[in-house]
Amino acid sequence: MQYFGTEINKSTENALISALSSGRFPHTVILEGGNAEQRLTLARHLAAALVCKSEERPCLICNACKKAVSGSHADVSIFSPDSKGTVKNETAKNIVSSVGIIPNEADSSVFIIEEAHTLTVSAQNTLLKILEEPPRYAFFMLLCPIKTALLPTVISRAQVFFLGNADTDTSKLAPALDAAKNVMAALTAATDYEILEAAAVFEKDKELLKAAFPLMHEISVEAMKARGRMETDVRFGDIPQRLASKFTMERLIQTEKRIVTLARSLERNGNYNLIITRICTLLRSDTK
Ligand SMILES: [Zn+2]
Repeated sequence: MQYFGTEINKSTENALISALSSGRFPHTVILEGGNAEQRLTLARHLAAALVCKSEERPCLICNACKKAVSGSHADVSIFSPDSKGTVKNETAKNIVSSVGIIPNEADSSVFIIEEAHTLTVSAQNTLLKILEEPPRYAFFMLLCPIKTALLPTVISRAQVFFLGNADTDTSKLAPALDAAKNVMAALTAATDYEILEAAAVFEKDKELLKAAFPLMHEISVEAMKARGRMETDVRFGDIPQRLASKFTMERLIQTEKRIVTLARSLERNGNYNLIITRICTLLRSDTK
């Protein structure tokens, strides 16, 4: 039986059921893994359980449950990324101010954030205040494919529930993100040794490098945004800012182009060891 309207990891399902029946459901949960539709379905069913008026919650037959599941309950709010694909600080501020309003119909109010990995750093920091000391009636659900995209301070305030393996292959995503960040951070270091050291993880793992190149490219683009004092992707921490303060715009553009060149040469099955060496030399040297 699909207790929450969607197939999820069995032990997670049991943990959620026991958290609900204990009456001490965590105020902040991260629903990680699965696909976007599964995460939202689960979040709506959990919201139903929190606003349901019956003994057995969620009963899924009372009005409150029906409204929560269909997304029309006054005390269940769902927030999604804007047209640019991020959840901005403005939205976070909206959430914080609505949390102060006591629930209308139910005993709880539920705030669901879809694609929470797209929350900007400032948005996450705004939310932190309310996640630290939420009113007793408020519950937050952060939905994301992989939680590492969130700030550690946010993760530490939440209980994480894993739905199951994500649709997209995320097994390489976390290590690739780490590796890409390490290489790009090493560009700001004093000597070439740091880049060599950071690139060493690719020596025996071509797939890792394949997954890391697009991320290195994104970081170089984010660094240009940082130079223009724009907000940057939270997944990359302060690395875009560090690159932006160390390099000129011309140098950042050059770096971005060099990453594209290297990625293409990997696609064309160029000499792998040479590509690794070039990561160090091409990214570092100011001349060709
Ligand atoms: Zn109900």
